[in-house]
Amino acid sequence: MKSYSLPDFLIERDDSRCIRCRVCERQCGWNVHSYDAEEDKMVHNEQDCAGCQRCAVFCPTKALIVRPHPYGYRPNANWTKDYLSDLKKQAETGSILLTGMGNDKSFPIYWDHLVLNASQVTNPSIDPLREPMELRTYLGRKPDRIEVLEDGTLKTVLAPQIKLETPILFSAMSYGAISFQAMESLARAATEFGTMFNTGEGGLPRSLRKYGKNAVVQCASGRFGVDLEYLNTGAVVEIKIGQGAKPGIGGHLPGKKVTDAISETRMIPAGTDALSPAPHHDIYSIEDLSMLIHALKEATNYEKPISVKIAAVHNAAAIASGIVRAGADIVAIDGLRGSTGAAPKSIRDNVGIPIELALAAVDTRLRQEGIRNQASIIAAGGFRCSSDIVKAIALGADAVYIGTPALIAMGCTVCQKCYSGICNWGICTTNPYLSKRLNPNIASRRLTNLLNAWSHEMKEMLGGMGVNAIESLRGNRLHLRGVGLQEWELEVLGVRGAGR
Ligand code: SF4
Ligand code: SF4
Repeated sequence: MKSYSLPDFLIERDDSRCIRCRVCERQCGWNVHSYDAEEDKMVHNEQDCAGCQRCAVFCPTKALIVRPHPYGYRPNANWTKDYLSDLKKQAETGSILLTGMGNDKSFPIYWDHLVLNASQVTNPSIDPLREPMELRTYLGRKPDRIEVLEDGTLKTVLAPQIKLETPILFSAMSYGAISFQAMESLARAATEFGTMFNTGEGGLPRSLRKYGKNAVVQCASGRFGVDLEYLNTGAVVEIKIGQGAKPGIGGHLPGKKVTDAISETRMIPAGTDALSPAPHHDIYSIEDLSMLIHALKEATNYEKPISVKIAAVHNAAAIASGIVRAGADIVAIDGLRGSTGAAPKSIRDNVGIPIELALAAVDTRLRQEGIRNQASIIAAGGFRCSSDIVKAIALGADAVYIGTPALIAMGCTVCQKCYSGICNWGICTTNPYLSKRLNPNIASRRLTNLLNAWSHEMKEMLGGMGVNAIESLRGNRLHLRGVGLQEWELEVLGVRGAGR
């Protein structure tokens, strides 16, 4: 059916600069650019442009500019361009609108309404260049009290802990949703930096099992790739109940993306759709969840913390309390702006609550119930910079998962086309021609650079607050003040308004 939609992007090519090298043509998986031999010039079809900027970045003469198309529908406060385009697409396809990455609606971003404290005269600030600053973080259940023997050794037997050199882990991204090269890059960077990557629900390829000590291995509703060896390869086992980008619904990897390698890793036939149901078919209550947690502990000889990941939904605090009481060692909460490889747009943009509110509510509830020490909290969904992370830790997180920032570090431009299987940056694709573009030597270096830069910035912020260990900041909301927030928001966040 003929498309009635207007293009989203305008491509401007400076013909005086263009050397007809055809790099743009080769770099574009959407076949936007082509060479007209008769006219000896490059032409383009901007209707198909995803705005990923690959051609502009790689054009050797910087002859290309790709920008939002000025074509406009008549301005209308109600019927905005997005609603018109989406509606036209659905009238042409009769299908659910799919999208990738995280919610891009203008919901409040509370990180931008929270400010950090800094020491001035009393409790002076610390110079992180001259004094030791501790970002090391241990995740896992902590005892109610510690007993020490006369010789100074620990009498209390600790539950299994994982040690991170920085409170930043890479979010769950499954092999199949991302390329092998992207997963290898994440695994190598996590190992080099002393943190963790997360297999997502797609299993762990055999050739990456050497990075298992730095892997969170997921056990999701589809149980793809889950067997005893897989569970024991990882350092943490995570039961995925929900995901911030699509709470309440399952996952779907189309059969055409299930290549031989993915079929082997997921333990499903090649070419078949990999459908993860919305619920785990053996979990209909907290008691059922508790049985799975304990089954996984039994399977891993009680040597690994068990994490349970949920989407941030309206009653996240009560759910988290149940999860901790069910025996989880870590609760991961994924907020409204969490990313995904593919989700219905209607779900991604309208379901769930911001991570800032969910995190504060969960930390408060667990403290009120006296069980905060029984599980670590990992917050996820929408972290953009090191200061967001410092604020999250002051709100109550032990650590954070980052997904989109890691992808951006590898080259992603947040074009939101991950669901299509065409990623010109070689990240969210299983197409060998495209995925080979991502060089794990380079991508893992870019990831460790990001972790390094953010960790340095976090130490600077801690030093400014006069805090020399990230542990001391956790849940210390006195280091936060709200700006431009209403009373109810300050109350949920548990922070005072600025000036008070
Ligand atoms: S990459 Fe740049 S220089 Fe090469 S053909 Fe395309 S527009 Fe011209
Ligand atoms: S991973 Fe690739 S397809 Fe997905 S948003 Fe980033 S650049 Fe686009």
